[in-house]
Amino acid sequence: MLELEAAVARILQSIPAPSPETLPLADANNRFLLESVASAIDLPLFDNSAMDGYAVRAADVASAKSDAPTKLHLAGKVAAGETFSGKLESGQCIRIFTGSALPPSADAVVMQEDTHTDSSDPTAVLITDTARPWENVRLRGQDIHAGTTLLQAGEKLNASRLALLAATGISTVKVGRKPNVALLATGSELQEPGAKIKPGQIYESNRLALAALISAAGIPKIFPLVRDDLSSTRAALENAFTECDIVVTSGGVSVGEMDFVKQAFEETGGKLEFWKVAIKPGRPFVYGQRNEKFLFGLPGNPVSAFVTFLLLVRPALLRWQGASDVNLPVSRGELAEPIINQGSRRHFVRVHMTPDGKVHSAGVQASHMLSSLASANGLLDVPADTTLPSGHAVNILHWD
Ligand code: AMP
Ligand code: MG
Repeated sequence: MLELEAAVARILQSIPAPSPETLPLADANNRFLLESVASAIDLPLFDNSAMDGYAVRAADVASAKSDAPTKLHLAGKVAAGETFSGKLESGQCIRIFTGSALPPSADAVVMQEDTHTDSSDPTAVLITDTARPWENVRLRGQDIHAGTTLLQAGEKLNASRLALLAATGISTVKVGRKPNVALLATGSELQEPGAKIKPGQIYESNRLALAALISAAGIPKIFPLVRDDLSSTRAALENAFTECDIVVTSGGVSVGEMDFVKQAFEETGGKLEFWKVAIKPGRPFVYGQRNEKFLFGLPGNPVSAFVTFLLLVRPALLRWQGASDVNLPVSRGELAEPIINQGSRRHFVRVHMTPDGKVHSAGVQASHMLSSLASANGLLDVPADTTLPSGHAVNILHWD
């Protein structure tokens, strides 16, 4: 049976190069850059004021004190978005606001709170404190120099990175296209939530869970429920492969005579790469290719489908878009109780981590138990036949 890491490596190896698309920044959140991006400009683009106050020459106010203010002549005003046409002469000051361009030959800004005006002389400003050279000035290029690489190919765009790009005047980015991901649930027992249920039937929940998990990594498309027979399964796969780049099924990949996904996939021209990965939950897991498209056949048990998606499918969807880092977010915690894996397979245990980093079991770990999945906020990788003691330092895997 394949180890998880070997299975992921085989999957990632087979993923083709991403297809590029150019998007306006407003549509590029959560996408992955296909090329590095450099700044064409300095940031700040010009020396400007960090305060509302008065632009001065620092030397002019070197002896200013509250009980002996320095009197300067008010020579003008620069609002944000304007520039001062002349230059600041010795003995002068210029009214200035946060973000206003510093007038030529000014080298400091005295904040408004360290000044007062003289009611008898509207052209005079009394400065009550000194200013060091460049005090309250945001210098050109202090943040970013023109030519600096802002982001690398493979990095994910997010709120702060989009802000960085926008601030340097960039309006579009080249990113990887998001895959269309078909979601199929197989099982004659499955019924749509909200519909009338007959004895022996259950409500289907995998497609919704997977759609929610996929939304960060692809464009999910929910397909109708598939009955457990070969021709329905084949027709459903044909249809899904026509419409989507990647097909994710749940159920029907075990060894029972009612499990048709593998056979149906092969009959539609698909090539099975492997099935079975040495993890719990989720041993039956099918990976196959059909031309440039991919099948991920997840087990039907809801927790198994969820966990195998996170460990085996999510990396593929991210790499398909050009992501360099396809790992789940990890945080460091400490076990608040012992966690036991008596099995012979590595177990990804549902855990709940509190904000202080203490990690508890999220409850009963059977792979049909949705309550413990719903109260979990992480997975803990526990090796076979292992007890991790209370107080043990652990890495917890999270999802988006
Ligand atoms: P299977 O992998 O098809 O053998 O299904 C394993 C278990 O998961 C069975 O108890 C199924 O009824 C259940 N199951 C399969 N698919 C789903 C689904 N989409 N939603 C909820 N439960 C499911
Ligand atoms: Mg089934």
